[in-house]
Amino acid sequence: MGLKVVKFGGSSLADAEQFRKVAAIVKADPSRRFVVASAPGKRHSKDVKVTDMLYHCYEMVRNREDITEYYEQICERYNGIIRELGLNFDISGELLYIRNAITHHSGRDFAASRGEYLNSLILAKFLGFDFIDAESVVFFHENGQYDGERTDAELREELKKHRYAVIPGFYGVMPNGTIKTFSRGGSDITGSIVARAADAEIYENWTDVSGCLMADPRIVENPQPIKTITYRELRELSYMGASVLHEDAIFPVRYAGIPINIRNTNDPAAPGTMIVASTNEYDSDCVITGVAGKRGFSVINIEKDMMNSEIGFGRKVLDVMEDNDISFEHLPSGVDTMSVVVMTSYLDTRRERVLASINKRVRPDSVVIEDGLALLAVVGRGMVKAKGTAARVFDAISDAGINIRMIDQGSSELNIIVGVEEHDLEAAIKAIYNEFVK
Ligand code: ASP
Repeated sequence: MGLKVVKFGGSSLADAEQFRKVAAIVKADPSRRFVVASAPGKRHSKDVKVTDMLYHCYEMVRNREDITEYYEQICERYNGIIRELGLNFDISGELLYIRNAITHHSGRDFAASRGEYLNSLILAKFLGFDFIDAESVVFFHENGQYDGERTDAELREELKKHRYAVIPGFYGVMPNGTIKTFSRGGSDITGSIVARAADAEIYENWTDVSGCLMADPRIVENPQPIKTITYRELRELSYMGASVLHEDAIFPVRYAGIPINIRNTNDPAAPGTMIVASTNEYDSDCVITGVAGKRGFSVINIEKDMMNSEIGFGRKVLDVMEDNDISFEHLPSGVDTMSVVVMTSYLDTRRERVLASINKRVRPDSVVIEDGLALLAVVGRGMVKAKGTAARVFDAISDAGINIRMIDQGSSELNIIVGVEEHDLEAAIKAIYNEFVK
């Protein structure tokens, strides 16, 4: 039987009650052998994550404030869990050591990482599993980049020595021995790394939602969960803001061909979403996998007669973008027009300079920047096979009385990108969801 790597997010390990749910899930399947844990997350909407409290301690020390009282709240979070679980486990020495280390400027990442470290110690004790410190198996290069090769080799060997183990997420070690964390939400990455090194048959990522949803639940009421999604589709949707998983968590398992299963700790019976490399089957009653959108884009519209015959025109425009450190999103173009879609925040203070440089480099008849664009991505591997999908997308949007400002269909036919006015975004998403799902 293959083994499973299971990662539990902060809300799944926020208090003793959640710890019990986690233990029940782990113990229900003996192939769940390696557990990656986050720091305690929010217990309710007004609560503060332990990671944020640790960052706060670090800031206090920098401002020469005394952390003693504030740090007590962190101690209480952990001691409360231990107490309520009825564990005979004393972590007061650890807590004191960490407080002193933070007080003596042990670094921002060290402070933040202790959230996962302590939670994993407690979880290991509660489950009766071994504890493997991420510090001894997850490595970073001198330049701060994750060292996948060394980590995979050493972690692989270490895992062979343990039947069952808990490994803290989120951090690893620099060549000089200091602790370094991934970016926020990085325990997802650790889970993926462990799954790869363990040659897991599946990487279960347990969170507080029943998988990826077809649309944002703040926009569409009760959107359907996605049963199966490919890595590429997920990338398209996450880029537009629909994410349940850290972006970088995909890569280690993707190369190893290990599927990710997003599951809900509070509803373990729900199958969740399977994220896979590729699939031939798709839900025949639904052509699209999901729809997501994002505000905050601008279009630089450039017009010039006979543009199509001017060799090098596009390159020169893109040179201007590069010189100004601006990455572009889309390049819809016509015979005598070229549009560059960029994030408005990138233009920022460079707006005038960009316009002046374009004028100088390609001498257009006109160049203007229009703000207030929202992009929405209609994503689905099923679109390749279904005829008329684009027409259905455009009809649904225009039937809702919404003006389409831009269209871009990737040649992979995996997605259709539509630009609308920012204030129309939600209505457009609803219209598409209703057209394809309802
Ligand atoms: N605890 C870290 C954070 O809040 C990492 C994680 O939970 O994945 O970002």
